[in-house]
Amino acid sequence: AKDSGRNAIQMFRRTMQDAASERLRLENDLRLALSRGEFELNFQPQVDARDSRVVGAEALLRWQHPTLGPQSPGEFIQVLEESGLILEVGGWALAESCRACKSLLGDGLVSAEQFSLCVNISPRQFRQSDFVERVTRTLSDSRLPASMLKLEITEGIVIQNLDDTIGKMRRLKKLGVSFAMDDFGTGYSSLTYLKRLPVDALKIDQSFVREATHDSNDAEIIRAIVAIARSLGLETIAEGVERSDQLVFLEQQGCHLYQGYLFSKPLPSAEFRTLLANSRQR
Ligand code: C2E
Ligand code: CA
Ligand code: CA
Ligand code: CA
Repeated sequence: AKDSGRNAIQMFRRTMQDAASERLRLENDLRLALSRGEFELNFQPQVDARDSRVVGAEALLRWQHPTLGPQSPGEFIQVLEESGLILEVGGWALAESCRACKSLLGDGLVSAEQFSLCVNISPRQFRQSDFVERVTRTLSDSRLPASMLKLEITEGIVIQNLDDTIGKMRRLKKLGVSFAMDDFGTGYSSLTYLKRLPVDALKIDQSFVREATHDSNDAEIIRAIVAIARSLGLETIAEGVERSDQLVFLEQQGCHLYQGYLFSKPLPSAEFRTLLANSRQR
């Protein structure tokens, strides 16, 4: 019995070591991926259900792995965040998003008044002391109108320093940048925070959307989010909309903007351009 206990401990250690070296290897691969330019952005359209217009898109990170093919951030975003690599990758994603959006504008595929590009900002990235300067510089390098840039932040940003967060957001909003609160309702939501933060939109998390039409709790949560947004004068946008019954429900609640497979998956840049070109002719 003593032996088998020892074996179990050894096995546990080995598993822990495997996990640790696996992680280190992934971290190294991600560092290489960055230097080799293996990251790409996909764009997922955001649609106004009332007239089917594409009102924006969310830029989503993809890793074109040389042997495994495209990898979604679910597999590696946490490693980027914990290793600090997210600062570089996030900076790249912001710059690339601004360049891509400027190019859509230059080619007449979108208009500055009717389209915004959403970029995910990790808490660590937002907390950089020079974050505002970085965004300012990226905007001026790309010559993208600031009003076309929307930053998606999560409730996790707030817990550290509310006043600092508000200060940075105000400075960016002065430039014309807007903010969406991502995954709303899944984190440390506090109405006190929400009231003080100068956000423009709430994104209804897909975990609520998924069961909204059969789970009365999820349905109630969505109703409550839309009501809060309305009373604070914020837009709502629903994510992960896959079926038309979900869309019908959301529209009944007064949420008209949505993003999800029902309309389109995230698309590589060329396909997203084709979609915009085709939808404009209608
Ligand atoms: P998120 O910000 O909540 O992004 C929405 C996720 O839902 C995306 O997953 C998108 O592909 C997926 N999605 C969209 N519509 C549907 C649908 O109808 N059904 C289902 N099942 N899923 C849908 P993705 O692209 O794998 O990204 C995962 C997460 O990685 C994102 O969640 C975001 O938190 C993070 N992420 C992605 N790109 C970046 C980035 O550039 N920077 C940072 N910091 N995080 C990023
Ligand atoms: Ca997002
Ligand atoms: Ca989200
Ligand atoms: Ca999410």
